[in-house]
Amino acid sequence: MSAMLLEVEQLSKSFGGIQAVQNVSFYVKKEDIVAVIGPNGAGKTTLFNMISGIVPPTSGFVRFQGAIVSGKQPHELAMLGMTRTFQNLQLFADMTVLENVMVGFHSRLKSGIVSAGFRLPRTVKEEKQAQEQAFFCLEQVGLAHLAWERAGTLPYGMQRLVEIARAAVSRPSLILLDEPMAGLNPQESKQLVDVLLMMREQGFSFLFVEHDMETVMAIADRIVVLDYGKKIAEGAPEEIARHPDVIKAYLGEE
Ligand code: ATP
Repeated sequence: MSAMLLEVEQLSKSFGGIQAVQNVSFYVKKEDIVAVIGPNGAGKTTLFNMISGIVPPTSGFVRFQGAIVSGKQPHELAMLGMTRTFQNLQLFADMTVLENVMVGFHSRLKSGIVSAGFRLPRTVKEEKQAQEQAFFCLEQVGLAHLAWERAGTLPYGMQRLVEIARAAVSRPSLILLDEPMAGLNPQESKQLVDVLLMMREQGFSFLFVEHDMETVMAIADRIVVLDYGKKIAEGAPEEIARHPDVIKAYLGEE
């Protein structure tokens, strides 16, 4: 049995009178690819933000590699081995592709100065190590030849791959992806699917929120389904596709 990585226990969040997430529990094991799906407003982003330290839960907790991490900041989670991407690209457009990926490496360094949520390098050795690792990750996602281009000049799909490389460069145990397929054309989506599956082979684990069902069905080992803030189903793609509550939640949305 593979090792437990993330345990979400009875997590809830309310905003005033709105119960955005209610008592949601699930887990991610090493080398799992777990998807969170649900109709609009189901609570996916709120759940993701709680797990990644962006909003504190109202109740419940998150355990990562055996330790309770609820309440920790995103940069603290990065140091522990959990990184995330966002729905909207968050690259530094005027920096090179390589520099953008290096930013992710610095996020896990124990030394350095914390600046805007990530750590700046302190030694020449760290800088060299960051550069080598960043270049290696760019090779992995097929973008090494663009390392010295300004990130903002790349097509959208390639910028998404740069973000994945940045999330992976510190060798985190778990990468959270917020709608990784959003805005990609079918060819770019396929390329990203191939990259994620290849990374899983290398030992990465993923938790992702996604609206693109084709991708979810193609790569998720397990799917957690939310509706009105509650988990209504959890299982393998084939179970979820025929689950009556899931079908009802999606058809009821029309
Ligand atoms: P979508 O697929 O449309 O992105 P979602 O599943 O990610 O939706 P959330 O964005 O988590 O859903 O929202 C869940 C509920 O919580 C919604 O009713 C939303 O309006 C509410 N909500 C989310 N954030 C806040 C906030 N900061 N203040 C008040 N209500 C919020």
